[in-house]
Amino acid sequence: MRKIETTSDVFLIGAGIMSATLGTLLKELVPEWKITVFEKLSKTGEESSNEWNNAGTGHAALCELNYTAEKPDGSVDISKAININEQFQVSMQFWSYLVKNRLIHNPQDFIRQLPHMSLVQGEQNVEFLKKRFEALSNNPLFQGMEFSEDPEKLMEWIPLIMQNRSTHEPVAATKIDSGTDVNFGALTRMLFAHLESKDVHINHNHSVTDIKRTSDGLWELKVRNLESGTVEHHKAKFVFIGGGGGSLHLLQKSGIPEGKHIGGFPVSGIFMVCNNPKVIEQHHAKVYGKAKVGAPPMSVPHLDTRFIDNKKSLLFGPFAGFSPKFLKTGSVFDLVTSVKPDNLLTMLAAGAKEMSLTKYLIQQVMLSKEQRMEELREFIPNAKSEDWDLIVAGQRVQVIKDTEDGGKGTLQFGTEVITSEDGSIAALLGASPGASTAVQVMLEILRKCFPQYITGWEPKIKEMIPSYGLPLMENRELLREVHLSTAETLCLSEKEPVFS
Ligand SMILES: Cc1cc2nc3c(=O)[nH]c(=O)nc-3n(C[C@H](O)[C@H](O)[C@H](O)COP(=O)(O)OP(=O)(O)OC[C@H]3O[C@@H](n4cnc5c(N)ncnc54)[C@H](O)[C@@H]3O)c2cc1C
Repeated sequence: MRKIETTSDVFLIGAGIMSATLGTLLKELVPEWKITVFEKLSKTGEESSNEWNNAGTGHAALCELNYTAEKPDGSVDISKAININEQFQVSMQFWSYLVKNRLIHNPQDFIRQLPHMSLVQGEQNVEFLKKRFEALSNNPLFQGMEFSEDPEKLMEWIPLIMQNRSTHEPVAATKIDSGTDVNFGALTRMLFAHLESKDVHINHNHSVTDIKRTSDGLWELKVRNLESGTVEHHKAKFVFIGGGGGSLHLLQKSGIPEGKHIGGFPVSGIFMVCNNPKVIEQHHAKVYGKAKVGAPPMSVPHLDTRFIDNKKSLLFGPFAGFSPKFLKTGSVFDLVTSVKPDNLLTMLAAGAKEMSLTKYLIQQVMLSKEQRMEELREFIPNAKSEDWDLIVAGQRVQVIKDTEDGGKGTLQFGTEVITSEDGSIAALLGASPGASTAVQVMLEILRKCFPQYITGWEPKIKEMIPSYGLPLMENRELLREVHLSTAETLCLSEKEPVFS
């Protein structure tokens, strides 16, 4: 008989921002539950959640043009932008609660206020941006957004981008000062440090290799201890698969019917990092452009001021690329081994449909540094090669599934929560808008997996997230209060922080 090493109420697989958020929510709601984490790497937050592996944008749809599509009648659809902004407000409230109650400290170590801007060039694009601005700026969620096509104003906002720019084509931008740069790596580490102080045991160097339902209705994990090389077995009532790119394989191992007919398509990324302090100092914003034809929506390069290790940095990217790995530290066999009899047709259909995307990604991988510099020069016309280095970003695995609208094998660009019918296991797949909306996504898991408790938990959830269950857009007074109190608690100010 197998020896069961430990039994828990909750297992969190993966020590990224998603598990950190779910664990923290659960510890506030039911402190007595025993929570255990298994992470295959030696540290927390080392995959997509790490600060160098993602772009650190607090996605509130303030600058990302792919969240506001132009409709065939020429008007701009802002429903997705509203949805993402509302979700980000939920995260901001939860982080504020944690800081106010001293569960985590020094908010400036993980969040900074930073203008979010959209920048376009060419008459048609300027027209689109103007329409987008008009549609958003009337909405209370996007108040404070400015639009300009005046080169002098733009020079004031983004000198690095406007210097030496040819004036043949019109340029326009929107700017909103209340945007944020979020260090999700630092936040993940803070949340796990807090969880450890509350007796949550984090097993680093432990790779989960199998998940099985047992006859007593629990879930048994087969775990390889990568340090000792031994195999362990652990049991829990509830399992969250927060393995990032590793989630799909684990979901497949669980055998739940809800995990069938789903595939994954990996998209890798590369950032360019500026190594010249004089250039870094000339920029202070996240500036998103418009996607090139054929580019996947989450791979629109942007020029971002970042705050990492209390230092101002400047990053450009991510450039999309193709690698068959599902995690940055994954295996080249990840894509092949994710194809199972139940998702084969779905994957084949996606393969046929997405030939142009695959071609685009492969072309992107082949780009030389100088070709990448040419893309950067669309933002900084006189950018010099020697000022920029390439670094490999995190890996995203986009979900492929059969949908009513898209048919068989449709590539999804959002996040997908998969839960078993009885709510005893949940997995998070997909990538965008990702870490920014972790709190809302984890609340969805609580609602789906713990329906018997959720009503009893509501008062505490409302204490943590005052807008819980209420659309902020329709509650202007509450929105004002939320903006004021989160800005104060999270120390978000318009002033540029001074570094020693
Ligand atoms: C290039 C790029 C840019 C991005 N930009 C942004 C952005 O600007 N804003 C934003 O909000 N989001 C962004 N995202 C998305 C965001 O980074 C992710 O949504 C988020 O970090 C996912 O968190 P996670 O906890 O699910 O996964 P991860 O952080 O990847 O954590 C998963 C963990 O599970 C572990 N694991 C996997 N398999 C196993 C196993 N079998 N056993 C044990 N452990 C396992 C891994 O080692 C890893 O530590 C970006 C992502 C990428 C790749």
